[in-house]
Amino acid sequence: MKFEITTLGCKVNQFESDAIAQALTRHGWRRVRQGERADVGIVNTCTVTGKAAMQSRQAVRKLLRQHPGARIVVTGCYAQTTPEDIEKIGGVHYVIGHFDKSDIPRLIVASLAKAQADVVRRVQTIRPDAPFSMPPAPAYGRRTRPFLKIQDGCDRFCTYCIVPHARGPSRSMPVEAVLEGLNDLGRKGFREVVLTGIHLGAYGTDLEPPTRLIDLLKRIETQPAVDRLRLSSIEPDEVTDEMVAFLSASPICCPHLHLPLQSGDDQVLERMRRPYDSRYFARTVRTIHAALPQAAIGADVLVGFPGESQAAFTRTYDLIAELPLTYLHVFPFSPRPGTPAFQFSDRVSEKAVKARTHALRQLGQQKHQAFQQANLGRGHDVLVEHRRDRNTGLLKGISANYLTILIEGDERLMNRIVAVETSGIDPDGRLVGTVTEPQSIK
Ligand code: SF4
Repeated sequence: MKFEITTLGCKVNQFESDAIAQALTRHGWRRVRQGERADVGIVNTCTVTGKAAMQSRQAVRKLLRQHPGARIVVTGCYAQTTPEDIEKIGGVHYVIGHFDKSDIPRLIVASLAKAQADVVRRVQTIRPDAPFSMPPAPAYGRRTRPFLKIQDGCDRFCTYCIVPHARGPSRSMPVEAVLEGLNDLGRKGFREVVLTGIHLGAYGTDLEPPTRLIDLLKRIETQPAVDRLRLSSIEPDEVTDEMVAFLSASPICCPHLHLPLQSGDDQVLERMRRPYDSRYFARTVRTIHAALPQAAIGADVLVGFPGESQAAFTRTYDLIAELPLTYLHVFPFSPRPGTPAFQFSDRVSEKAVKARTHALRQLGQQKHQAFQQANLGRGHDVLVEHRRDRNTGLLKGISANYLTILIEGDERLMNRIVAVETSGIDPDGRLVGTVTEPQSIK
């Protein structure tokens, strides 16, 4: 039996798709190769913006077109919040919410032989006592650096955000299960794991006894199963001085933090219901930079939130310009039905949102280029990916501080951490380097 799976949205969705694919593989199924028809098509949807929801619908239609006769399963945040939208597409067999997502492989395998005319909807309402849903199988997909989802959901309800409505309250994977998950990935030969969650900094507050992300990291460090750990996005108010001190001394945690800033204007931050102000954010970034001068520090920015004046935007721009951030992810505001911001009347014109998004993306590029320049002629530990770079044929890897670096070398270097010195930047804007100490290869 063959399946196809299309994933939209965040790292957590990617992790969950990998886990579903892995579980199906254990049943003897395989992913379709190019030109083959699938018996089952799965779309793991996203609804964080109106565009993501539209792309999710497009992905369903594409699967229907490309795999006529296949059983179609649609899951993810869009399926959870608006199952009727999915059902309207026609031709879909299953609409599965988040709380039954890990049951998808079993459901598919058990039901494929039976005829099914009507769409089956399994979307549970969100319960405050929902448990952490364990993945149906260890997930690693085709990645060199697999994700491990250790936390799900969020209790914050920022006014623009649909995620707590889609994924429910914050829940954490028990500590022992995280350690076992990492051990498993280590045994399979993975060098780096990216710890992911919807609200990663809330890790452990729901566990019995309660714990914290930093305590988990300390525990992992006592018996590291992999060479490198990377944190996905973490809220600015959760990057405490204790966390920064820990990261700067950690032998395995990568010097890389990704902080959702969203706005540099205090009034906008307040209306977004974000629990910090611009001064707090600036102090956090400077503290990280002082302790870890080589660290990659990324930020998400939401442009055109209702009521964002040109002056408010300029404050955001200026704040980012003056801080040692190394890259930006810029998103135009998208009103999501069911969130308070959907009702806010003082929307920013499309033209202004476009211009502001463009300006910030350019600033992000400048920041990234400056960071690359600062890292030229330096030594880096680079984890080499399984696949060569498509354009150049060179090996491609990621430094601990999140720089893509191209190197010459043979296949034996793949999935190894090698010492590299950077020497230039290629026409596509990627750093190029050479292996300096082959004997140091891990
Ligand atoms: S912290 Fe705010 S933006 Fe992030 S998932 Fe929770 S509600 Fe959404």
